[in-house]
Amino acid sequence: MTDVSGVYPADAPASQALFERASAVTPGGVNSPVRAFRAVGGTPRFMVRGEGAYLFDADGRRYVDLVCSWGPMILGHRHPAVVDAVSAAAANGFSFGTPTEGEVALAEEIVSRVEPVEQVRLVSSGTEATMSAIRLARGFTGRSKIVKFAGCYHGHVDSLLAAAGSGLATFALPDTPGVTGAAAADTIVLPYNDVEALTKIFEVDGAQIAAVITEAAAGNMGVVPPTAEFEAALRDLTRLHGSLLVSDEVMTGFRVSKAGWHGLSGGTTPDLLTFGKVMGGGFPAAAFGGRADVMAHLAPSGPVYQAGTLSGNPVATAAGLATLRNCTDDVYTHLLSASARLAGEVRDALNAQSVPHAIQFAGSMFSVFFTDLDAVGNYDQARQQNLPAFAAFFHSMLSQGVYLPPSAFEAWFLSAAHDDAVLDAVVAALPRAARAAAEAGSIDR
Ligand code: PLP
Repeated sequence: MTDVSGVYPADAPASQALFERASAVTPGGVNSPVRAFRAVGGTPRFMVRGEGAYLFDADGRRYVDLVCSWGPMILGHRHPAVVDAVSAAAANGFSFGTPTEGEVALAEEIVSRVEPVEQVRLVSSGTEATMSAIRLARGFTGRSKIVKFAGCYHGHVDSLLAAAGSGLATFALPDTPGVTGAAAADTIVLPYNDVEALTKIFEVDGAQIAAVITEAAAGNMGVVPPTAEFEAALRDLTRLHGSLLVSDEVMTGFRVSKAGWHGLSGGTTPDLLTFGKVMGGGFPAAAFGGRADVMAHLAPSGPVYQAGTLSGNPVATAAGLATLRNCTDDVYTHLLSASARLAGEVRDALNAQSVPHAIQFAGSMFSVFFTDLDAVGNYDQARQQNLPAFAAFFHSMLSQGVYLPPSAFEAWFLSAAHDDAVLDAVVAALPRAARAAAEAGSIDR
């Protein structure tokens, strides 16, 4: 194995060979677009193993993992309690298509942690969770329109793939071919954190709005927390107009606190919440839940249909349950202090090279914007980034054994396994990466 303190060469022959094979049989060579490194260039690394805070690629190189599977691996890779739980579940069989006790235990764990969740339905992906929550909100209210916010990602649900540029209220056009105008027509896209735009749309369309869906704290345009005024307006306006508030906690849920963003922000009580990532412990498990009177509209209790062959899969629920049970107060305290330390070191390194940037937090989740804005409050601002500087920073870190998210618009994730020694290795890589970012030049306007 190559020493992590060394600088890896820019090429990665084993990953390159796998990528060529993959590209022959899979569009773009990957099964989810951002993995392809298109935003930063170069060859995506094919990983063969994870251990604690580290990933190991096909070329035998070790990386400190700051992606953590885009959030789920909150305990680090191959946490012994999760490995044991998965092995024990798998030994009993993989999938029965019947109810199992594990599903009940996972649902109980979620209900006990997140106060507004009285009932929960398990699904297999975050996309399924938001798609089902939207259908349920429409079925419950008998209304068709949905409000979402530009820069918020809720999975690849047709009606939620619409995002608009700046402007007050844009009746959305589909963002991707394949989503019909009809699917997007009932989606209204507003700027995040914009109380005035939200107020105006409710004045105009309030009686037709089934739900407002929002990332509890945005993480998919980089980390952009909601302002207190925006959170209050979300709750007040939806309640006033008989619409449901759907808080998407797929990314923040069980990561930023025991009860996710809800546990941190207090105050706001959504009608429905969606979960994924951490609650599956690295396996395909997700959920949506909330008010019992709303959830009662789901089949078989009610008329809104929703189902899944692998929903509540025994191996996935065992992984999720073991993960949540091991997410102790100590884990959350550690994540907070580790992310504060790392973000501070990134700030110092970038300042030392006069690289303009803003670092933003949602609890222990944070991201680094390569921007000359002081703060980023919405998607238009998030897009004002020096992307070549990020790409140079990313590749320098990668060559020094640190695996960052390969996009400037993603949160950085830590785990319980990212201890001081691991962070020391990241910190040691920062000066060189900051120099690379500085050399990439300033933002073109
Ligand atoms: N909602 C949010 C906030 C997400 O971050 C994601 C995925 O990144 C999703 C929904 C979709 O989840 P999945 O990729 O499991 O379908």
